[in-house]
Amino acid sequence: MSAAEPIQFDPDVVRADFPILNTVLHGDKRLVYFDNAATTQRPRQVIDALVNVYEHQYANVHRGIHWLSEQSTDLYEDARESVRRFIHARDCLEIVFTTGATAAINLVARSWGDRFMKAGDEILLTEMEHHSNIVPWQQLAERTGCLLRFAPISDDGRLLVDEFDRLLTPRTRLVAFTAISNVLGTINPTAELIAKAHDAGAIVLIDAAQSAPHQSLDVQQLDADFVAFSGHKMLGPSGVGILYGRERLLEEMPPFLGGGSMIRRVTLNGFEPADLPAKFEAGTPPIVPALGLAAAIKYLEGIGMQNIAQIERTLTARAHTVLNEIDGIRILGPSPSEKAGIVSFVVDGIHAHDIAQILDQYGIAIRAGHHCAMPLHKRLGVAASNRASFYFYNTEEEIDRLGEAIRGAKRIFRRN
Ligand code: PMP
Repeated sequence: MSAAEPIQFDPDVVRADFPILNTVLHGDKRLVYFDNAATTQRPRQVIDALVNVYEHQYANVHRGIHWLSEQSTDLYEDARESVRRFIHARDCLEIVFTTGATAAINLVARSWGDRFMKAGDEILLTEMEHHSNIVPWQQLAERTGCLLRFAPISDDGRLLVDEFDRLLTPRTRLVAFTAISNVLGTINPTAELIAKAHDAGAIVLIDAAQSAPHQSLDVQQLDADFVAFSGHKMLGPSGVGILYGRERLLEEMPPFLGGGSMIRRVTLNGFEPADLPAKFEAGTPPIVPALGLAAAIKYLEGIGMQNIAQIERTLTARAHTVLNEIDGIRILGPSPSEKAGIVSFVVDGIHAHDIAQILDQYGIAIRAGHHCAMPLHKRLGVAASNRASFYFYNTEEEIDRLGEAIRGAKRIFRRN
């Protein structure tokens, strides 16, 4: 069923697809999995697809001319087509399989960055980036002498667009930002920022690690240049991610990793790179993870991305209500209407790790720490936070359990 045909959503039916959600821990606590921004769980359909490949269809791709290799090559290229359709890219040439969002961003920094950035050129980022969308650019700055600028955010975690505009100058060659903050849940005005960057003559990389799993993504409508995301955050296996790149840009870029598959011809004196997208897929690619990602996409399309976003909006609103009823909790980020299914918070006087440990005793899995966003935590004036992040298989009843568990933690620490 497509996203255009909303389904009557039954959480119990969906949850039955996810074996791990039946886990009972610490004696009698049914697992509440609220660490979906770190990685999601997999439905039976994805697990079966992986087993099926290994049992019946596995060989290396683009190498053998034997039957099994032809089977796996066809499936691998079909997986690329699934990704293309999912993000509405124009052509499969623009879909590069990587090992994850981090690898995809590094590919752009190394290949496009080393070729086109020079001393004095600027890259505009934001204060709410994940380390994966900061460090590769810092490394590029070390190599080339280019400069990094950071668009600031408000105290409630929204990008200050006026400041973004001010920092966008003729020196800006690249703008790179997250579509959804992995800490604040803030949904950035992606299309608007891309248009502004293009008007200023810059190209744009979207970190879609937290948006591709939760909202529909149309790279042509957005007019995006590069988009990076990971399979494991959208029901797929770990070890696979995607770099979408506009064909013209990918054509201009030199290969990043060298090795098998990325060449047309090699002599002892040099090599000629292969055509897109093989040029950027050196070595044996993540074959089975890519097929698992295709199965995940099929599952997501069955539910419909609009439905997923809608369910998560309900869960986020519920989480704000429940947490706001508890004294001494500071929720980071904007109001529920402006954020995705990520709710980070700080409990007065109780360290984030202690909260997470006590919640674990209640069977609730949340994240504690800086969530790979240390500069953002510094900006917010907190050393660490707790993060509850939802997916469509979570329920409002689970969020109520979160509230009870936090009250329990406060009783232990006598903070009520
Ligand atoms: N960007 C954002 C916003 C993320 O949340 C993450 C994962 N936490 C990444 C990039 C990196 O993804 P991966 O670790 O799968 O490469």
